[in-house]
Amino acid sequence: MAVNVIMGDITRVKADAIVNAANTSLLGGGGVDGAIHRAAGPELLAACRPLGGCRTGEAKITPGFKLPARYVIHTPGPIWRGGDRGEAQLLDNSYRNSLRLADENGCETVAFPSISTGVYGYPLEQAAAVAMNAVTCGLRECRSVRDVTFVCFDARTEAAYRRALARLGPAE
Ligand code: ADP
Repeated sequence: MAVNVIMGDITRVKADAIVNAANTSLLGGGGVDGAIHRAAGPELLAACRPLGGCRTGEAKITPGFKLPARYVIHTPGPIWRGGDRGEAQLLDNSYRNSLRLADENGCETVAFPSISTGVYGYPLEQAAAVAMNAVTCGLRECRSVRDVTFVCFDARTEAAYRRALARLGPAE
């Protein structure tokens, strides 16, 4: 069981599943969502259409099509509205539900982007702490997932996730 932090482009990661910080329509958007749809090809949008959207904090799975990843797990994280609108719980749900869905589909390796800290405005340090806690707790419930990687797009994000990982201590 391992949790890793790297800097990179999640569309190039060869994990069994990569997670998409989607919006509730599941019909594509900007940021990492746009990058994933571009790299996967138009079949991804065609696979998302019949799913009928996804509620914030829930997760849905599709094939990865042209991506090196076998699956894409789509989860809309919360939009930051000041912190007292259930954002932390919803972000925790996004990570745990994505991990559970990966596990139910037999995935061993899963890669996450920094959900909600782009356009959705979730403060980075707080988001990293929620993400790290959710993933380490969620991993204990998994039967097949053994390896989770946070793929950070910039150095500031990578540093925040490294700090959050270090705070867990040497056991993880
Ligand atoms: P949200 O709407 O959930 O905030 P964004 O896509 O706006 O989602 O941002 C989430 C994070 O994903 C940000 O840290 C952004 O820099 C990062 N990101 C953007 N493109 C990529 C990519 N290709 N690989 C990994 N992370 C990415």
